Amino acid sequence: MNFNLTEEHLMIRDAARDFARNELLPGVIERDEKQKFPTEQVKKMGELGFLGMMVDPKYGGGGMDTISYVLAIEELSKIDASASVIMSVNNSLVCWGIETFGTEAQKEKYLKRLATGEIIGAFCLSEPEAGSDATMQRTTAKDKGDYYLLNGTKNWITNGNTASVYLVIAQTHPEKKHRGINALIVEKGMDGFVVGPKENKLGIRGSDTHSLQFNDVKVPKENRIGEDGFGFTFAMKTLAGGRIGIASQALGIASGAYELALKYSQQRKAFGREISKHQAIAFKLADMATEIEAARFLCLKAAFDKDTKQDYSLSGAMAKLYAAEMAMRITVEAVQIHGGYGYVKEYHVERLMRDAKITQIYEGTSEIQKIVISRGVLGK
Ligand SMILES: Cc1cc2nc3c(=O)[nH]c(=O)nc-3n(C[C@H](O)[C@H](O)[C@H](O)COP(=O)(O)OP(=O)(O)OC[C@H]3O[C@@H](n4cnc5c(N)ncnc54)[C@H](O)[C@@H]3O)c2cc1C
Repeated sequence: MNFNLTEEHLMIRDAARDFARNELLPGVIERDEKQKFPTEQVKKMGELGFLGMMVDPKYGGGGMDTISYVLAIEELSKIDASASVIMSVNNSLVCWGIETFGTEAQKEKYLKRLATGEIIGAFCLSEPEAGSDATMQRTTAKDKGDYYLLNGTKNWITNGNTASVYLVIAQTHPEKKHRGINALIVEKGMDGFVVGPKENKLGIRGSDTHSLQFNDVKVPKENRIGEDGFGFTFAMKTLAGGRIGIASQALGIASGAYELALKYSQQRKAFGREISKHQAIAFKLADMATEIEAARFLCLKAAFDKDTKQDYSLSGAMAKLYAAEMAMRITVEAVQIHGGYGYVKEYHVERLMRDAKITQIYEGTSEIQKIVISRGVLGK
């Protein structure tokens, strides 16, 4: 066993840290307040290779491992979790999904542009009445010979308006239940595809979350991913990897808040000494540092399992569950350590606290992670 990161890993982590401090920090408060998508920053993320980190270089990606990806997401999330969710969806859901299960033609047509950040993608599973229970797909993809006729509504789609390519999960054979579901690649601009209004969110407000409507959209057959009926398995396999990205996002939000709280506690004085010298605050910092380290190891273990071709569904769910719950606890404590200053925007920790909440909800709520984990430990 070796706990040391390689030189390459350290370089990637440092590059992500520099990018976050130099490019994401300026304007992050304003983007949050105004719900402004980080257009320029995402463009630079593409140029630096953050949008297709694990994709094979022959398709324009960085050819890196999942450990590098965890390190980069943590660094970006310390500063701007809106930027990191855009990165996570593009890398681990859209690029990974097409690279792993797509045809050569799909990779040529879509993956190259997605991996370089020329365009970004969205992953469309959730519906008004199908969230945790994703088998209840009401969006239909009727088989019309050489195309599918797509009808229905998707909810809460990250990159909903900014994406150019959408992986849409829809029911083709209702009688076969989840085995009748397909995954289709839909392009923005196809006739009948309408982007709904932007959601006004509690956190990750720089990311754009929209509902989508499909009204008789004709999707060519060659845009189906995998065999007929593979869509539900596709979604579950893709989300299993996506959870490593969201776990790392939660880890980054927590470590960003912790770093701010640590620094503040060494500057702020009360009762004649720095507040870090009061044991109640010092113990908070000790607990925070310990929990963050535990989450980091869970994230890296899940990434290691994926990189070494072992089953990562259990370790990924554990990492996401623990990191998300931990991020919520740590960000609340970071606000507490800042006292009244923690309650205003200039000190960043209130934003991190709002951003942390989403990590307990998307890509499977904490309750759903417990279902996955309990099935794993019970061998079901
Ligand atoms: C900002 C944001 C971005 C998102 N981005 C995307 C995206 O890009 N693509 C996409 O497809 N979706 C996306 N989602 C949707 C997200 O994945 C769902 O909101 C999530 O899966 C929960 O589904 P739901 O909201 O329908 O809640 P529900 O499934 O209705 O759950 C409500 C509550 O019941 C609990 N619950 C449900 N079933 C059980 C059970 N069996 N046992 C115990 N508790 C249970 C849940 O844990 C939750 O606490 C996003 C959501 C948000 C808010």
